[in-house]
Order: sequence, then structure tokens, then C-alpha cells
Amino acid sequence: RQHNTPGEWRSLVNPEHRDELDRVLRQHLHDSSHSFEAEYQMWHRDGHWVWIQCRGRVVQRDVHGRALRMVGTRMDISARKQAEADIAHLAFYDGLTNLPNRRLLLERLAHAVARSERGGYHGAVIFVDLDNFKSLNDTMGHDMGDQLLGLVARRLTQVTREVDTVARLGGDEFVILLDDLGASPEEAGNNAEFVCRKVLAALNAGYALGAYELRSTPSIGVVMFGGGEHTVNDLLRQADMAMYEAKAAGRNTFRFFDPRMQEALDEIAMLETDLRHALARKELLLHYQPIVDNDGRLSGVEALMRWRHPQRGLVFPGTFITQAEKSGIIVEFGEWALETACEQLVQWSARRDTAHLTIAVNVSARQFRQPEFTQRILQIIERTGANPRRLKLELTESMLLTDVEDLIHKMSMLKTHGVGFSLDDFGTGYSSLSYLKKLPIDQLKIDRSFVQDMLLTPHASSIVRTIVNLAQSMGLQVVAEGVETAEQWAALKKIGCGNFQGYLFARPGTIGDLRHWFAAVDDTASSVRSSHLSLVNPVP
Ligand code: C2E
Ligand code: MG
Ligand code: MG
Repeated sequence: RQHNTPGEWRSLVNPEHRDELDRVLRQHLHDSSHSFEAEYQMWHRDGHWVWIQCRGRVVQRDVHGRALRMVGTRMDISARKQAEADIAHLAFYDGLTNLPNRRLLLERLAHAVARSERGGYHGAVIFVDLDNFKSLNDTMGHDMGDQLLGLVARRLTQVTREVDTVARLGGDEFVILLDDLGASPEEAGNNAEFVCRKVLAALNAGYALGAYELRSTPSIGVVMFGGGEHTVNDLLRQADMAMYEAKAAGRNTFRFFDPRMQEALDEIAMLETDLRHALARKELLLHYQPIVDNDGRLSGVEALMRWRHPQRGLVFPGTFITQAEKSGIIVEFGEWALETACEQLVQWSARRDTAHLTIAVNVSARQFRQPEFTQRILQIIERTGANPRRLKLELTESMLLTDVEDLIHKMSMLKTHGVGFSLDDFGTGYSSLSYLKKLPIDQLKIDRSFVQDMLLTPHASSIVRTIVNLAQSMGLQVVAEGVETAEQWAALKKIGCGNFQGYLFARPGTIGDLRHWFAAVDDTASSVRSSHLSLVNPVP
């Protein structure tokens, strides 16, 4: 279409694009070595914007060099522009909920952090994770899951301001970016908390999905920014960390990030590196805790792993076993413990006062699940020459959750060689009694939490009684763990429990610490000897 005057043509250009167009034109008129090119929107007479790409150049100038005539082309590039916008949308928005995705969130977060630093105000990143979404998705179907996510997205948008960003990271994870929440950290914190409460209330309301009325709750983690340097990835990780704290606190609640959470994580990361070298650097050791009979006489010990860390000193299993299990290194640790315990058994077998003692070794599920577990144990026994009848393996109830057939098979194999089995921390797991009957175990160990409560709550005391009765009816031994007082010991004996372990008798210690126990075994012999000595060497 022809435009007669430049003014008429220019008036149809989107005002937002005019400055840029003018700049390009001016530059071309000044230096017309190349053609110019510009993209801008023009108003169509049908009443909408059209994207135009314009290319042209000056073809005639007067003697002073002023432009007289231009030629050029104009092209409708609306379709291309739309495609570009679609691609940008796909790249920056989540297809299911139409919320900004992780990439756009990171971009906006980076801007918000930079702005907050300049402007001296504070903002917040709120991490929202739906509780039990996975099981809902599995039981109700993915369609339902998707619908729920859509509704959650809408509610999150409703409880936030226009300037805030509600993004979906993927799965059931959402992030809310609250931009300017105030100049003081307290004010900003209060505002963030207010939003958290609104989110909790909004997501706790029931969801109508087809014929179903569904409930879903969120766990929420918050981290504040402003007044310091933050990287966007750190912020997201910290909000995530805080969210896990909310989960640990029982879900359907929110937690603010606390630097101590970071310290705990750093510590785990550090442990992980050191843990890999612990065996090679000979930092592992076993402590032994006595297990006594009704008369308080030593019948055996439990081997408990310790890690002598060069900086931290003695580290207890509570700090490193979980980590060792996650990384898989527990398999090597466990074999080392077995081997060390077997070597100890061999030493004890040579002495009359210790030859009867047993050693119980804890075995982690991951170790037991190794296909070659049985062979490895038998090899260790053979290599060391230990008597398998003096060796007990302590398993936990959680092992009964998967592949019980494999478990029974391995246990039976070892059993035929004389190895004994003990079910540790009994009562805290999921033991089904029907499994219990199928397993070739010799012993139940009552978890110390029951022993500690048995004189305080009727509930705990009836659990202890039930376990002892059950064990007796099945011909199993019972060991009470964590016996700390004489009263507990007396009560346990009265019920019929025959074996005891706990601080009342001894704390776990080195072989050296056990020495006086062996003497106690030979009590009569030593008293005879000492009376004999007193005859030879009468006290003056
Ligand atoms: P566990 O097998 O139930 O071991 C008993 C735990 O109770 C030990 O903690 C012991 O020190 C503690 N204990 C004993 N008597 C008392 C008492 O009277 N009062 C109190 N409060 N506690 C008592 P420890 O040594 O910290 O070991 C913790 C857990 O780590 C063990 O629980 C066991 O599950 C695991 N573990 C220890 N050594 C190994 C190992 O070599 N391999 C594997 N896989 N796990 C191990
Ligand atoms: Mg144990
Ligand atoms: Mg135990």
C-alpha cells in the first residue's frame, strides 16, 4: 500500500517502536553504505497490529548529499513473529499450568536479587511441594494428578500479587518469588510469613475433581534475600532445604531457611568425602558391648562400629551409617566389621574364659541384598577360621519389606553353617508375625525405646510383655536393649526376658575395657587363687 506522506505512514507505526525506527533511519541517512532494516508493528485498517519487516536504502541524493529518494520493501512477518513468541512461550512457560517455568523463574529471580541489592529492600523465595502427590498420582491416575496441579497453580496465583511470580519447577514443585516485601528484614519476614499462611489455607481447601472431593496439603520452605549477596541457585537450594525441614516437622506447614541447615548439609558433604577414605586409612574400629544373662554374667557382645576421624575424634554410627548406606560403601564397611569380629572370635577361642562368647554383628539391608552376600560371609569365616556358631548377624525389620524369599534363602544357607540370626530393634518396624515364623532366626532384640518407657507407660510395658511372650511361644531368645536401671532389669527378669544389654552393665568399649568381665567369668577360680595367695603371703 502506498503512503503519500512520511507523516501518515509513521503515524501508523506502534508508538513503542517509533524511536527505534527513527534511530535506524537516521543512521542510514547519515551513512548509506548499507541498506537499513527494521522490524516494527503497524496498525492494520482491519483494526489490529501487523508485524512489518522493512528494508530499504537511499537511491538518490542531491549535491549536498541530502537524501532525495529511497526504495525498499515491506514484508508482513506476523507469522514469523507469532512462531517466535510461541517458541519463547514454550521455552519459558510450563505446558500444563501455563505458569513460568524454572528458566523464567531463574531469570526473574536474578533480576529481583539485583534490584533488591540496589534498592535496599528484601524479597523471598517460597518453595511449595505437595505432600503425598506421588501416591495420589499413582492411585487416582495421571489425569487427576494433572488436574490437581492446574488447580493448585490457580490458587497460588490467586493468593499472590500481580508483581509476584508463581512458577512451576516440575512435578509437584512450585516456587513463588515475592519481590519487594519491605525495607527491613523483620517487615519482609512478616510479609513472607503472611503469604505462607495464605498459601497453606488456600491449598488446604478441598479440591473438586470430577466426582471426587480431594484433599491435598503442601510443605513450604522460605528463604529471604536482599541486604547481601545471593546466587539464584543457592536461594533455590536453600528454599528447598527449608521445605524438607517442613516435611520433617510433619508436613502441611512452612519453615524458614536457617544457616544452620546449610551447616548440617556441608557437614554431610564433608563426611561423605572423608568416609570414602576411612577404610584405607584404617580409621574404623569396633567397640564391643556386653550382653549378659539373668545372673549378670557375660554371654556375648555386640560389635558396634566407630570411626576415628582425624579432626573430629570418635564418630558414632548415628552420624555416618546412613551416609555410608546411601553411597554404598556400607558393603565394604560391613565386611570389614565381620572380618574384624571373626578375628576376635579366633583370639577368644584360644582362651578357656572367653571361648564360649558370641559376637553379634550388625548387617545393613544394602549389604544383605548383595547377590554374593552368603558366599562373602562364608569366605570370611573360612579365611579367619572363626567358629560360625559364635557369630550372630543382627538384621533389622526393614529388611522384611522386600523380597522375603531371597532373605529366607540367604539366612537358611548361612544357618546350615551354624551362623545365628537376631532381629534388631524389634517392635519399631513393620514385622508381620507371619514372616517371623518363616524366618530362621534365633533371637529378638527388644528396642530400647520400649525398655526405657516400660516403667513409665502401660503401653510400652505391654509391648515388652507381648514380645517376650511371642518369643517364648516361638522358642526364640529375647535380648532387652538399652537397660539403664536396676529397676528395668528386675522388671524385665520378672516378665521372663533372659538376656540384657545396656549401660547398667557396660557401655560399648574396646577389648581392653572388657578384660574385667572375663575375670568375672572365672570368679570362683580367681577367689580360690586369691585365698591361696593370702595363705602363702599373709597380710601383715
Ligand atoms: P543397635 O544395633 O540397636 O545398637 C545399640 C545401640 O544402642 C548402640 O548405639 C549402643 O551404644 C546403644 N546403647 C546400648 N546400651 C544403651 C543404653 O543403655 N542406653 C542408651 N541410650 N543407648 C544404649 P551405637 O553404637 O551408636 O549404634 C547405633 C546403631 O548403629 C546400631 O543400633 C546399629 O543399628 C548401627 N550400627 C552400629 N554398628 C554397625 C555396623 O557395624 N554395621 C551396621 N550396618 N550398622 C551398625
Ligand atoms: Mg544391633
Ligand atoms: Mg538395636
